[in-house]
Amino acid sequence: MEGGSRGLRRAYTVKQLLESYRAGDTDPVEHVSKVLDALRRWERDVNAFISLEAEEVLIDAAEEAARRWRRGEARRLEGVVVGVKDNISTSFLPTTAGSRMLDGYIPPFNATVVEKLLMEGAIIIGKTNLDEFAMGSTGEFSAFGPTRNPWDLSRVPGGSSSGSGACLAYGACDAALGSDTGGSVRLPAAYTATVGLKPTYGLVSRYGLIPYANSLEQISPMARSSEDVMLLLEIIAGGDEYDATSIDREPTTASGEEGLKPEDLSLCIPEELVEHSEEAVKKAFYNTVGKLEGLGARLEYIGLGGAEAYALPAYYTIALAEAASNLARYDGSLYPVRGSSGDYWRQAAEARGIGFGLEVKRRILMGVYVLSEGYKDEYYLAATKLRRVIRDAMLKTVGKCLVATPASPIMPPRIGERVDDPLKLYAMDVYTVLANLSGLPAIALPVEIRGGLPIGLQLIGPRLGERLLAGAASIIEDLTGLAGVVAG
Ligand code: GLN
Repeated sequence: MEGGSRGLRRAYTVKQLLESYRAGDTDPVEHVSKVLDALRRWERDVNAFISLEAEEVLIDAAEEAARRWRRGEARRLEGVVVGVKDNISTSFLPTTAGSRMLDGYIPPFNATVVEKLLMEGAIIIGKTNLDEFAMGSTGEFSAFGPTRNPWDLSRVPGGSSSGSGACLAYGACDAALGSDTGGSVRLPAAYTATVGLKPTYGLVSRYGLIPYANSLEQISPMARSSEDVMLLLEIIAGGDEYDATSIDREPTTASGEEGLKPEDLSLCIPEELVEHSEEAVKKAFYNTVGKLEGLGARLEYIGLGGAEAYALPAYYTIALAEAASNLARYDGSLYPVRGSSGDYWRQAAEARGIGFGLEVKRRILMGVYVLSEGYKDEYYLAATKLRRVIRDAMLKTVGKCLVATPASPIMPPRIGERVDDPLKLYAMDVYTVLANLSGLPAIALPVEIRGGLPIGLQLIGPRLGERLLAGAASIIEDLTGLAGVVAG
């Protein structure tokens, strides 16, 4: 596979695309043909999709969108091409969660978020690749082959929403949905120069999301600008009778108004944590926050009361425990992969042996272990206590400032570089898990393209403070000029 980084191009953001449709400068059919060209050029190398909608269906949808624009009946995403992570249920395309276990499974219903996108005129182009059951940080654990980073095909695009980041980075979609349990839209955003927003826990319905760790995860929008992820969020957010954890609230802003200025920003920097980053990442991070300070933002250097040391172990203990319990449903009796034996346990063992990949098996084993009699107190209960400590420290901090960190401590690794060392792999999530453990919203966006490789920054905000996060992110976008970039 060809390595080495490529150039940089610009593509429309969703907002620009919609303006161009409105002005009659671009036609949805023309746009969809461009997207199909990008697919033909890149997809074989990148492997961003597990399944794709048929070209005729896409063109039909684009023609319908064109008619609606002409008649003045365009909806909020009319003619916008969206990629949907393949752990989000669709009744019109298979939903595999990146696992052989679900190969060929077509859900009988659409996830709530998918219904909402369709109602607004989005054109769903396909289902994006992911680490099996969303367990991973690089995109290499998919049963359907790894996704490669369009910025450098020898490198990973970040996971687990690897295909959602990659399709945005080479122009096969205008926006995408991912899921974020411990950073799965923010790592891909950091590695593909896109924007990922993990909403406040409960803000987006999880109905139809194939679960990994329910107490941590949220379906999350990705796009090429912070404005775009907010538009997507507004559409998919809201209470849902099918998800008892969903809350019927609007994302709010602490400052109460749009048009946030740098001098309205207070950023807290957990210095000890930032030290975990490699040099290039640290440099890009301090350079960006330094520029914000120069424009009037307040910076404060803080500690996070132990979260520095405990976030990763607490996250992985809780996530794996929940994963073990969720994955118990794949027993070879209901879903595509079945065992041949008549005996229930043998059938389940056979199906799991064939259906699950190595990392998923490893996680089930660890998850069962931390929940087992005699060890539960030592591991699972201890992790839930640590979670509370971390959450309290985070809630206190985001009451006065946005927590700023790099999005990932390292540059996008090469394919195969980290995948055999679980601990190194898990360490990539050191910044992102903080938000999931605390239920807080967080955004990741690009701040620099260095040697052709993207570097991302993360901001974590107060509960329901998505607008504030997006406002702060758009100030950073004004500084960097990186909204709307794609690999060229
Ligand atoms: N990398 C983390 C994990 O493997 C997060 C994955 C996710 O957010 N789905 O658990």
